[in-house]
Amino acid sequence: MATYNLQHNEVVFLKDESVMHGGALASHSDELILTSLNLVLVKKGLFGRSKGALTFPLNQVKVHDNRAQAAIGRSNSGNAALDVYFLNGQEQFSFLSGGKKKVQDWIGKINFAVTGEELPESSRTGMALPGSEMVAGVLKDTFGVFKARLGPQLAALTKVARKCGSCGAPISGNQGQAIACEYCGSIQQL
Ligand SMILES: [Zn+2]
Repeated sequence: MATYNLQHNEVVFLKDESVMHGGALASHSDELILTSLNLVLVKKGLFGRSKGALTFPLNQVKVHDNRAQAAIGRSNSGNAALDVYFLNGQEQFSFLSGGKKKVQDWIGKINFAVTGEELPESSRTGMALPGSEMVAGVLKDTFGVFKARLGPQLAALTKVARKCGSCGAPISGNQGQAIACEYCGSIQQL
């Protein structure tokens, strides 16, 4: 932890040494530390040599209904990941091992660090369960982000295929979409 020095009033709550930040880089080589003040990502290079640290202050984490906005997300590889919503954007951290359970531990501890309250184990899945409009509605401040993420999934769920009303050729698209038949050009509402 050479590149991150704890302040005198700062304590470490949790840390993990095989963490990937964001989705673009393909290695779990960073170290993630949750302290009482910050979420800290220590970037590691070859042979574990530190390349510096990114500090995300916990007072920048969004809070709604006394819940820190950290949730189980999905990494590019489809595994459970930790999504944290900050005032200026969302950050994703994924772990090499531990799956959902580990992400839930982080969500619980982040919530404690931010709000001072323990989360019941049952609600450590966070708020962004895909497909849950009800939950999204409650989270007004992150609703835009949530809706955007949900969009492609909704579209995928409502694909429809049918026959053209004029010529009988097969047409397909998203439900509610107006589409021109490839063969006769007539516009139809799916
Ligand atoms: Zn047609």
